[in-house]
Amino acid sequence: MIPAAFEYHRPKDMPGVIALLEEHGDEARVMAGGHSLIPMMKLRMAEVPHLIDLQDVAGLGGIEIDGDTIRIGAMTTQAEIIDHAGLSQAAPIRREAALQIADPQVRYMGTVGGNVANGDPGNDMPGLMQCLDAQFILVGPEGERSVAARDFYEAAYMTDREDEEVLTSVTFAVPAGGHAYEKQKRKIGDYATAAAAVQLVKEGGTCTAASIAMTNLSDTPVWSAAAGDALVGTSVDDGAVKAAVQAMLEDIDPAEDNRGPVAFKRHVAGIILGRAIARAWSRA
Ligand SMILES: Cc1cc2nc3c(=O)[nH]c(=O)nc-3n(C[C@H](O)[C@H](O)[C@H](O)COP(=O)(O)OP(=O)(O)OC[C@H]3O[C@@H](n4cnc5c(N)ncnc54)[C@H](O)[C@@H]3O)c2cc1C
Repeated sequence: MIPAAFEYHRPKDMPGVIALLEEHGDEARVMAGGHSLIPMMKLRMAEVPHLIDLQDVAGLGGIEIDGDTIRIGAMTTQAEIIDHAGLSQAAPIRREAALQIADPQVRYMGTVGGNVANGDPGNDMPGLMQCLDAQFILVGPEGERSVAARDFYEAAYMTDREDEEVLTSVTFAVPAGGHAYEKQKRKIGDYATAAAAVQLVKEGGTCTAASIAMTNLSDTPVWSAAAGDALVGTSVDDGAVKAAVQAMLEDIDPAEDNRGPVAFKRHVAGIILGRAIARAWSRA
């Protein structure tokens, strides 16, 4: 459980980070909280000859709520999300989801940027970001660009981020309506067997907008437009919920692993989504 030898870099600013990434190419990786990367290095599943610690880089932290827009800096930890009263009021689904990530030790270190940039299908934040239709802000040698969370994930550990780009923040509109983040796991602190992020808007007893994303049920997070569409225009009655679950099941593609066979995962996904829809609707 000892990682291969590596050189440790601790730049003070983003130009310093990008210069190191350009100099060392494939051999360099940035480190945020280190709670996915360091275990991978110890297990020798990742070899990183040049480790670039982002801790001292200015401008990567902070949570800002400016009118209708929320910005969360990449180095914001899950614990900071849980403790931020303004964010918990403006986007309560963020706190509900963060509380279900790992355990307090991991949440004190693990960052939003690391969670979404990692590309692990088991991470909880990517699906949540897709549910909220977040944008990821990336900076690299060519400058800054923004990518929709719904377009970012390509395969397990493969994202739209170029090797020399760093994710600096995520932004999204203050969500409307009711929310729920529902997660089934084998034990406290575990990754999801299945998880669902749901935001629903209710007007006069009718659902007028719905966004649904699922976690750890494919090699990327799955935002299911069809599942949301199945609820819009309905009173979210049993038939509509069944249609939404059916639509979601057509969009996911789980694989058998130590969390269970495919049929079990599909069953759990349906139960979890049904619960999430019910809770979000009751809060809408
Ligand atoms: C016991 C345990 C249980 C866990 N359970 C869960 C769970 O239930 N749900 C969950 O979501 N996560 C879970 N995690 C993972 C945890 O949330 C990690 O902290 C998170 O996945 C990565 O965040 P980090 O800041 O630690 O990133 P790091 O480990 O530092 O980095 C992860 C990857 O992202 C890249 N990266 C980091 N920051 C940036 C950036 N700003 N720009 C570009 N690339 C970047 C790194 O190069 C690396 O490839 C668990 C971890 C442990 C150890």
